[in-house]
Amino acid sequence: MAGIYIHIPFCKQACYYCDFHFSTSLKNKQDMLTALRKELELRAPELEGESLKTIYFGGGTPSLLSVSELASLFEVIYKNYRVVAAPEITMEANPDDLSSEKITQLSKTKINRLSIGIQSFFDDDLQFMNRAHTASEAKKSLTTALTYFDNITIDLIYGLPQMSSKKWLRNLQIAFDFQVPHISSYALTVEKKTALHAFIQKGKVPSVSESKSLEHFNLLVASCESQGLVQYEISNFGKPDYFSKHNTSYWKGEKYLGIGPSAHSFNTIERAWNISNNANYIRAIQKNELPLTIEKLTINDRFNEYVMTGLRTVWGVSLPEVIKNYGAKYATHLKRNAQKFTAKNLLEFNDKSSCFVLTKKGKFLADGIASDLFII
Ligand code: SF4
Repeated sequence: MAGIYIHIPFCKQACYYCDFHFSTSLKNKQDMLTALRKELELRAPELEGESLKTIYFGGGTPSLLSVSELASLFEVIYKNYRVVAAPEITMEANPDDLSSEKITQLSKTKINRLSIGIQSFFDDDLQFMNRAHTASEAKKSLTTALTYFDNITIDLIYGLPQMSSKKWLRNLQIAFDFQVPHISSYALTVEKKTALHAFIQKGKVPSVSESKSLEHFNLLVASCESQGLVQYEISNFGKPDYFSKHNTSYWKGEKYLGIGPSAHSFNTIERAWNISNNANYIRAIQKNELPLTIEKLTINDRFNEYVMTGLRTVWGVSLPEVIKNYGAKYATHLKRNAQKFTAKNLLEFNDKSSCFVLTKKGKFLADGIASDLFII
């Protein structure tokens, strides 16, 4: 089983904190769509013999595509790939694109999961981040989306300098009142080469506080738990039947193909990524060339990645999987190095599943614990 990620590299405006690959000029949109369709055709042999169980439109802003543009991509996918009978097909969408008409149209396409970039239900937060939508558009789009789609996830950002814990809790409560079955929530991070980074450097806005983010994260975990939303990955919370199949396959080390500029692919042995430049991407694909950089992963790289991603999930790191995929030496290393964390009650071994899983306390230190378990 495998997945496909399609990167739609256009946005209406640049959010101040964003370092993803996108362009605010849509003038290449048609050439880009032609290139995406062609890359899908060119790379179909990479998934020969596999069935696609998930398709994910990310970005950028995939909701800038019209329904007929989406249909043209589906046509190529279904012609060139074997797709399972009931695939999970997600599209990221921004509230300002989700008019009632657009939602109705989308509900008639193959898309069966919407990931809505709400980020906050408050206008001052949205303005601070330079989001293109308003709080009222966020609520309106969500109300309509929930009447047409059962499987919906929303993104929320915490840790904004002006965001009090009370306001963060209010944000969460609004999401719970909508009864969304899935929330992805991340701390605001300041990436270099973003407007937010420049504003902080110039003293125009206060810097982001780690202790505030941690406080908000604690509130997020406790609130979601009280609502029956399972923290199945550090930043992802869902009702049991609504865990993201696409993202779960990333965390479980399954194969996926990344189509479009900047998109990453993984075939269990190599990672590859497309050039992060729209014009150069289009030019290369027009010449039947794949603008890919390929990195061959060593067995240590693969083990370390599995530990890193596995520990962030509710399933943890499976000892039998480690033995099967990497060998007994890696299992011995894992067991030996895990001891100091199990002794401190940060990590526990589940006898039933034979997996190492982080405890509640350990989840706050996930990345540090994982890197201590790496083989260098
Ligand atoms: S809409 Fe998404 S991809 Fe586009 S700039 Fe904002 S955060 Fe980045």
